[in-house]
Amino acid sequence: MSVFYGWHKDCLIEEQKNIMKTGQIHVQTENIFPIIKKFLYSDHEIFLRELVSNAVDASQKLKVLSSNGEFKGELGDLKVEVILDEKKKTLTIRDNGIGMSADEIDKYINQIAFSGAEEFVQQYKGKEGADQIIGHFGLGFYSAFMVAEKVQIRTLSRHEGAKAVQWESNGSPEYTIEEIEKETRGTDIVLFISKESKEFLEKNRIQGIIDKYCKFLPIPVVFGTKTEYIDSPEGEKDDKGNVKRVAIEVPNQVNNTQPAWTKAPADLKEEDYDGFYRELYPMTFEKPMFHIHLNVDYPFNLTGILYFPKLKENIEVQRNKINLYSNQVFITDSVGEIVPEFLTLLHGVIDSPDIPLNVSRSYLQADGNVKKISAHITKKVADKLAEMFKKDRSDFESKWQDLQIFVQYGMLSEDKFAEKAKGFSLIKNTDGKHFTLEEYKDAISALQTDKEGNTIVLYCNRLDEHFAQVKKAKERGYDVIELDGPLAPHWIGKLEQENEKLKFARIDSDSIDKLIKKEDDLPSKLSKEEEEKLKTSFESVVNKEKYSVQFESMAETDSPVIITQPEFIRRMMEQQRLGGNSFYGAFPEMYNVVVNANHPKIVQLLGKEDAIRQEQIKNLTDLALLSNGLLKGEALHQFIERSVEQIG
Ligand code: ADP
Repeated sequence: MSVFYGWHKDCLIEEQKNIMKTGQIHVQTENIFPIIKKFLYSDHEIFLRELVSNAVDASQKLKVLSSNGEFKGELGDLKVEVILDEKKKTLTIRDNGIGMSADEIDKYINQIAFSGAEEFVQQYKGKEGADQIIGHFGLGFYSAFMVAEKVQIRTLSRHEGAKAVQWESNGSPEYTIEEIEKETRGTDIVLFISKESKEFLEKNRIQGIIDKYCKFLPIPVVFGTKTEYIDSPEGEKDDKGNVKRVAIEVPNQVNNTQPAWTKAPADLKEEDYDGFYRELYPMTFEKPMFHIHLNVDYPFNLTGILYFPKLKENIEVQRNKINLYSNQVFITDSVGEIVPEFLTLLHGVIDSPDIPLNVSRSYLQADGNVKKISAHITKKVADKLAEMFKKDRSDFESKWQDLQIFVQYGMLSEDKFAEKAKGFSLIKNTDGKHFTLEEYKDAISALQTDKEGNTIVLYCNRLDEHFAQVKKAKERGYDVIELDGPLAPHWIGKLEQENEKLKFARIDSDSIDKLIKKEDDLPSKLSKEEEEKLKTSFESVVNKEKYSVQFESMAETDSPVIITQPEFIRRMMEQQRLGGNSFYGAFPEMYNVVVNANHPKIVQLLGKEDAIRQEQIKNLTDLALLSNGLLKGEALHQFIERSVEQIG
């Protein structure tokens, strides 16, 4: 950005020359700080993440230099301290890492956008720990000016005989550097918090930010102290003769420097994974079903642990729980741009230094690395499920109820996942037996293929909702599957699209012999006139706007009256409910009252007295409605009253 141009001293002179030459436009280099404040990060709290990350980097760099012999001194206990002084209105980030000489300050701090981290990584590429350096943006330090009116860097470099220096700037492009007294190696970044940002002088606010961003940093981060209880060092005893417990204040280390995902899977037991889950989500009590440990180092770097939660009907509340880290620094819990949408149902951590962080979201989606990472995770998840299915099918089947939404969501949204999922995506019938689609087709095609060659999958949402119809189907030797959940309608649609001669029909969408039509209709025992007569009577006992009466010649043993709802009408209505239909409200709820023209009770109606016939028709219809859960309110009340009266 050209606004940064005037920053470095030499550049400033260059630019002033230009101004003198034209004498017209007055370039105000002082404007840089308002710009940083406003645009660098919209989220001001990020300054602490950046400064603590720099301090962690400084410590990691020293480790690298020590391990390759360039630094010969004592490493000591490397740690980062965050120190809040409410009286002086300062927040200090202290490390005992590499420190900086005056020259290094000039090089790394005075030249904005020159990233020292980048240079360091280039230089030490391939050496142990070098890939652990967080910052490679070159602007992190300046985020301090989002919240501070003055910033000091007080630092003593690692070099033997180095002189401690202090850099200070109040947010104008001017700075001072002076020698100071400082005994200990490393850097203090002292922020004089501005009035507008006084929230960052509150202990709880700082604690909150640290908890969010620093929980898993690789170097200990300490903020304040905490109370711990220990046995009395003097051995004092209480009345009962037990050693007294006494309270002591100890440094409050806020982070776990070795979170589970950074370890080798071979070094972790099941309880370690469960424990880490609790560490991530202390408020969640339910255990995840299983996990995947991600570990890739070529062609990109990615580690992490993904957990499969038990999904509830309301999947929205469980979304966006994956935390994205870059070298153990928390970046975001909104990974929608990095992983395909269905994977946002998973929980856990992804850590990759290869995901560009400080860029816009649309850019992120187009990024090559992000695409590769996304494809990799999708593949890993599918492989894991396939492996579980192969290894222990009955265990997999026992988890299916909780996995179903996830797998169906994945199949509907990602073709590559759908391809792999064919092998383990299951169908469960009303007897609780599981099949893959191919297995199921084989099992039912002999009996459930209609005269047009379509194999019909009969389904119900829940067995107890359609008990009577399922029973009738089973009497004919048919199988019925249970298909429930918010994605079922879409999923059926997909399977029908991909399998030409496969059709799904809900068990109540027609009379059983029409659902799987094999031969021509049976002859009817009623003449046309008789049918018409009865039809009028049936129509008089139902709401005609909702129910249309039809006669069918079914088997004598079938029910006298059934209620059906054509498959396509119901699917339309389900689509409306799912909100994906622009004809909302255009499809009124419609049902068919189907009268079995061959049922002896129906045939007998003709010989009855008018009043009795009418009453029996009412009862037969109400019973059918009752069987489908459609008899409600006043109609149900009246039906019960009538039935009670008939008990003589
Ligand atoms: P980045 O970290 O992305 O390089 P910064 O603006 O945050 O950009 O920091 C610029 C450089 O200043 C760092 O690369 C590093 O060389 C130096 N630096 C910042 N903070 C420290 C620190 N606490 N100790 C030592 N060097 C530091």
